[in-house]
Amino acid sequence: MAEKPLVAVTGASSGIGEATARAFSAAGHPVLMMARRIERMEAMGLPDSLCRRVDVRDRAAIAAAVAEAEAAYGPVDMIFANAGIARLAGIERQDPAEWDEMIDINTKGVMNTVHAVMSGMIERKRGTLVLMSSIAGRKVYPDHTVYCGTKFFVHAVAEGLRAHLAAHDVRVLVVSPGVIETEVLDSVTDVQTLADYKANKVKMGGGIGAEIVADLILGAYRLPQNALVQEICMTPTRQSY
Ligand code: NDP
Repeated sequence: MAEKPLVAVTGASSGIGEATARAFSAAGHPVLMMARRIERMEAMGLPDSLCRRVDVRDRAAIAAAVAEAEAAYGPVDMIFANAGIARLAGIERQDPAEWDEMIDINTKGVMNTVHAVMSGMIERKRGTLVLMSSIAGRKVYPDHTVYCGTKFFVHAVAEGLRAHLAAHDVRVLVVSPGVIETEVLDSVTDVQTLADYKANKVKMGGGIGAEIVADLILGAYRLPQNALVQEICMTPTRQSY
């Protein structure tokens, strides 16, 4: 049985979530991994891990997975509300169904995730909530309109949670990456927007590795509970906006 506390990650089947699950596992933590592609998480074969097929739009499914993992490994000490999608497109061309999907996953999904552990952390007077935003939660990019809206939401919620939870010694960290090499672009259906994004990425010499984000989160988590990194914002050096 691992001696370090349980951590939980949504969107652990690829990209930044996968890298973060791997980093915490390598540091000796049991990990609850949640995403829809359970085969990908199981194939990682992390020790002391529990993989559950969870859609973050399903609040009860997250709560059930957390309860199951806590019964095996004790309370969740860090949860990374990371799952998200980017349906980038010129707003006048975009099918509003893509807005619905982004809003449901990137905003309500984050709230559903936080909800599963927040009361327990308040009771224990410790814990770390890590919320995935983006550089697009600080700056607006024209063909990211609704995506930016969802990420600005995460920033606002992180501020609100931090203000409320500070008195309970619960830490709230918001993560705001620039261009990271993951599968996130696979869900972009707008041909022009995808071409523009890729051209811009080439200009900046490509994105940076997901493990860089994961290591920063692990480093922030490892600080004493009375020390909080409020935000991690990192970009490729050549990403100028
Ligand atoms: P990936 O596409 O590689 O990973 C996205 C993860 O989210 C997958 O594990 C996916 O799992 C999961 N996911 C998506 N929808 C759901 C859902 N409904 N329920 C549960 N899990 C879901 O991309 P990234 O690693 O880049 O994305 C992770 C986060 O990082 C996102 O919130 C994204 O907005 C953010 N981000 C990414 C940046 C980048 O440049 N890559 C920059 C800034 C922020 P599955 O499909 O198996 O369910």
